[in-house]
Amino acid sequence: MFTPLQQFCDRLLLRSTCRLCQRPTSEVLCLDCGRQLQACAQPRQWQSYGVTVWAWGRYEGLLRRALRQVKFERDRELAQFLGQCMAASLVDWPRSQPKQLIPIPIAADRLKERGFNQADAIAIAVAQSQRWSCNTDALRRPKSTQALHGLNHQERQQMLDRAFSWRSPQQRGELWLVDDILTTGTTLQEATRTIRAQGDRVRGWLLLSQTPALEDLNAAEGSATILKLRKQRHPCRDSSVGRAED
Ligand SMILES: [Zn+2]
Repeated sequence: MFTPLQQFCDRLLLRSTCRLCQRPTSEVLCLDCGRQLQACAQPRQWQSYGVTVWAWGRYEGLLRRALRQVKFERDRELAQFLGQCMAASLVDWPRSQPKQLIPIPIAADRLKERGFNQADAIAIAVAQSQRWSCNTDALRRPKSTQALHGLNHQERQQMLDRAFSWRSPQQRGELWLVDDILTTGTTLQEATRTIRAQGDRVRGWLLLSQTPALEDLNAAEGSATILKLRKQRHPCRDSSVGRAED
């Protein structure tokens, strides 16, 4: 462990330190933290809201810490590193179909406060690694909204109603929305709804992380599908399963 005095000396001498453990390094992260973060990769893919959803890791442990560092310490370089981690898990994706990444914008007041949009930094890093295009202008968020944390699904929907605006891009390619974290999916659904209302098709969502609670919901949704299939085969059997949100 490095003492506060050592950290202070490093800062004084303008030595670069690891963003997560403060050990001296010339990179964004020290070798240890870089490896540990790459080991957070647990890519999962499923269908929801009529699109393919792909999430790189779970929002917990070191990945959660790194994302909090990105947001609260305005760490753009770490966001880029996370985007590169994501891209490393996407290398096997077919390249025949050009893809256009659309980062989910943050409200103008939050952008002013943070200085950058973490979803932009992640999407740009993924697009560069994969040689896909990235469009940070087509989807906008003119309406200022308060933080969604702590709101229920209905309150989130009301808060996000008509929060986005969409201008069809000139460039062709499958549209994939990109965000740093998937919690309930309300934000991505509203963005997708806005794009669909303009006649464009969203192919999927690419997420750096998803909340573990959401994973439980997906599992519940999966078992709901299985039960539904069983019910079709055995119409006399009663198995009432509520549809999982998201
Ligand atoms: Zn470190």
